[in-house]
Amino acid sequence: MSVVHYERRGPVAVVTMNRPDYRNAQNSKMTYALDEAFYRAVADDEVKVIVLAGAGKHFSAGHDIGTPERDAHLSFDRKATLWWDHVGKEGAESRFARESEVYVGMCRRWREIPKPTIAMVQGACIAGGLMLAWVCDLIVASDDAFFADPVVRMGIPGVEYFAHPWVMPPRIAKEFLFTGDRMGAARAHEVGMVNRVVPREQLEAETFALAEKIAAMPRLGLALTKKAVNQAEDLQGMHTGMDSVFGLHHLAHAHNAETSADSLAGMDPKSMKAAADGS
Ligand code: ZN
Repeated sequence: MSVVHYERRGPVAVVTMNRPDYRNAQNSKMTYALDEAFYRAVADDEVKVIVLAGAGKHFSAGHDIGTPERDAHLSFDRKATLWWDHVGKEGAESRFARESEVYVGMCRRWREIPKPTIAMVQGACIAGGLMLAWVCDLIVASDDAFFADPVVRMGIPGVEYFAHPWVMPPRIAKEFLFTGDRMGAARAHEVGMVNRVVPREQLEAETFALAEKIAAMPRLGLALTKKAVNQAEDLQGMHTGMDSVFGLHHLAHAHNAETSADSLAGMDPKSMKAAADGS
């Protein structure tokens, strides 16, 4: 079974994360399959808009930190950066090279896809899942969707693609990170993080109606408009801000590796859930 499914419906390409048994936890295999699918959608002249979806009940539970197919120790053909292979390197050198490529590098690459992208989010959108939704231009969420970045529990200041203070007001971003609490779809809409909230059973229909409306616009006009807004975000410091936080992120990984069981402070999905339930 392919970890990413690709389909074209008229002018809309649908890229679907397909590890529903693991709530679409993103391993490297999925990262590179997503990249291939996005590349295919960009190369297809008939495709005007791309929808990113997650199969099953949840959009994405985040990066794969605990499934049997976790593959962080494997090499892949790198696409996003010119960093060397993390395999065979030690400590921060390995982590920095890997995360520069598969997390920040890939997310930045996908944010720059020259066609409009829409995340169609249901259920959980947690940590690494946020990164996938946030790189999309628009987010349509079902009323059962929720968002959370609980990695502060690991002593880490948020996920690698640190868009938090740009996708929501800074004070809300602090609350979101300090508590690790779930933000429901309605609140996410209220703070401007998602474009639309629709009933779960209408999620697909509403997302595709929006995609088709956008698809009627001229291709270059859409590409230039997307670039214009992305450039404005970068002029507000998003690109450099994210680079500076990436250093803090790796300080935290290194501190964990030095003082606890591993760079994630010995936390796995089970202990993360137990910590959340106990608070
Ligand atoms: Zn990290």
